[in-house]
Amino acid sequence: MRVKSKYRPRLWIETECERMELLEERILRDGAVRPGNVLKVDSFLNHQMDVALFKAMGDEWARLFADAGITRIVTIEASGIGIAAVAALSFHNVPVVYAKKTESLNVDGEVYRTKIQSFTKKRIYDVFVGKKYIQPEDRVLIIDDFLANGKALEGLISIIEEQAGATVAGIGIAIEKGFQPGGRLIRSKGYHLESLAIVDSMDPETGAITFRRSDETGAL
Ligand code: 5GP
Repeated sequence: MRVKSKYRPRLWIETECERMELLEERILRDGAVRPGNVLKVDSFLNHQMDVALFKAMGDEWARLFADAGITRIVTIEASGIGIAAVAALSFHNVPVVYAKKTESLNVDGEVYRTKIQSFTKKRIYDVFVGKKYIQPEDRVLIIDDFLANGKALEGLISIIEEQAGATVAGIGIAIEKGFQPGGRLIRSKGYHLESLAIVDSMDPETGAITFRRSDETGAL
């Protein structure tokens, strides 16, 4: 268990750490706990982006999914895009596709569609992916920044497996909030889910954050 305290590592991201202690340290250093079970990580993950950290995350997923035969990475607009794009460098530059939330004249041809309830914005989005960008023979790695209730993953799985007839061969999440039901739900369906940091608790009053250790889950 790691707890936010006066701990302030000085390094940017230089060190090789066991698992993704690097990400945990960054969350402790720069993350902020907001009311409503929201962890704010804008300074390095989903507004300003630390691409060296993203590359380390991609390398870790490449190690964890080495035998999965990944042919394509799929993510969702907007926060997953940067992470997935950099991660592809660690997967022999496989194509990266992101599910779009806004209709655009640039997307021609037919699309797969689903509805996803947003955790942070509390609204339902129509999302879509051009049919030509997922093939039935694809073995897809889904990547996203957060896992909370699992709605984003359920929507992407519906597009990839039910609609495109491809295989979800792995799911890589940067930060799973382990006290919310998404992780359990997705693992119970048999998917190979690897979250690089699992937050077990976070307190908006004190800012305290605790992480699940790998020996406590078997899932890290
Ligand atoms: P879920 O669909 O699993 O309920 O939520 C996952 C999505 O909601 C992610 O794509 C992410 O963008 C957003 N999200 C969920 N929890 C958080 C959070 O604590 N902080 C931030 N910044 N985004 C979150």
